[in-house]
Amino acid sequence: MNTSPDSSAAPAQQTSANPATADLEARFEQAFGRVPDGVWQAPGRVNLIGEHTDYNEGFVLPFAIDKTARVAVAVRADSVVRLLSTYGDHGMVSTDLSALDAASTKGWTKYPLGVMWALQQRGIAVPGLDLLLDSNVPLGAGLSSSHAIECAVISALNDLTGAGMEPEEMVLATQRAENDFVGAPTGIMDQSASLRGSKGHAVFLDCRDQSVQLVPFDAESEGLVMLVIDTKVSHSHSDGGYASRRASCELGAEVLGVKALRDIQVGDLAEAGGLLDEVTYRRVRHVVTENDRVLQTVRLLSAEGPGAIGALLDASHASMRDDFEISCPELDLAVATSRANGAIGARMTGGGFGGAAIALTPLADEQQVRAAVESAFAEAGYKAPEIFTVTPAAGAMRLL
Ligand code: ADP
Ligand code: MG
Repeated sequence: MNTSPDSSAAPAQQTSANPATADLEARFEQAFGRVPDGVWQAPGRVNLIGEHTDYNEGFVLPFAIDKTARVAVAVRADSVVRLLSTYGDHGMVSTDLSALDAASTKGWTKYPLGVMWALQQRGIAVPGLDLLLDSNVPLGAGLSSSHAIECAVISALNDLTGAGMEPEEMVLATQRAENDFVGAPTGIMDQSASLRGSKGHAVFLDCRDQSVQLVPFDAESEGLVMLVIDTKVSHSHSDGGYASRRASCELGAEVLGVKALRDIQVGDLAEAGGLLDEVTYRRVRHVVTENDRVLQTVRLLSAEGPGAIGALLDASHASMRDDFEISCPELDLAVATSRANGAIGARMTGGGFGGAAIALTPLADEQQVRAAVESAFAEAGYKAPEIFTVTPAAGAMRLL
């Protein structure tokens, strides 16, 4: 401890002893020539179950994962924003807060700048700042690396501006950033998980009223691991597919005379079959049964624990593959091979057409599943998948 009498004068720039942030602080100093005011982190997420239910005002059950975006931030006296990421070779981007403009903002900076813009739209005075991003959330794998950035940035700005936003407000502000600045028609699931997640829990979210309930999901204590199998198939071609699925759901709700498919129950499906064309019926059936599976999963997790939900994960995958038709051969192979080699349940996760699958696997079978999936992909001539484990982790927080 430094007790020298002149330690209060012109403090020497030194990184803190916090091992979780020391590396980032050092890189920040190197880049910007000053120490950060703080460091915030926010996780990516995996959706345990509840796919394409969000925009139907239904239920989802994501969890925050132990992969996070961290931002080191220092406020400036002017209205300049300087942004740097440790990922890739982007170089520093400098812009002015008085002229944030979605159309001319390209690349990764639209995520942090989108958040600043959304806060401005809410009347919050955003200060100029220097910001360094460091994330280990895989990009474009369906783990929401973009929301991890946005949630880390909004957490930082909430503290630095003293805006005092509740999580609900930050959820809506990040949605505005994604929808109206980034231009991605996303809902509220990803940022709800990132901002409101909790270690050992999944986040049961009602997308109609935004209410959240934490559900115990401690796979490890039951000797299970959650494997993520990133197929490396890009979901960037999904735009047309996503829009057409949304349109089918809207059509289904309209024909059935409800505000959203959330209002249709499994018991209503037989009657719905007589009113809808064959394809729309299958789209509707996926959403309705998926909502029901989320509710069943919540009940089973609380009553019996993670070991009991395997069949629901399987049924969710079959419904996405056959009724909603958003899977792809790589995802189907990852799921089938995991199940054949010891996983107790597996499904594609995320919007579909690529991205990742999850496989809930007994610890004793983890290596077998990994090896089997790798060789099945090699045999099929697919790109090598990336396989890793995730655990339900804490939501966004300040680290320094
Ligand atoms: P997802 O959110 O599913 O990972 P998105 O396409 O929504 O996929 O977001 C990925 C984008 O987020 C990347 O193309 C990149 O612009 C940005 N991004 C994610 N992580 C980083 C990072 N560490 N540094 C810079 N940009 C990043
Ligand atoms: Mg995203």
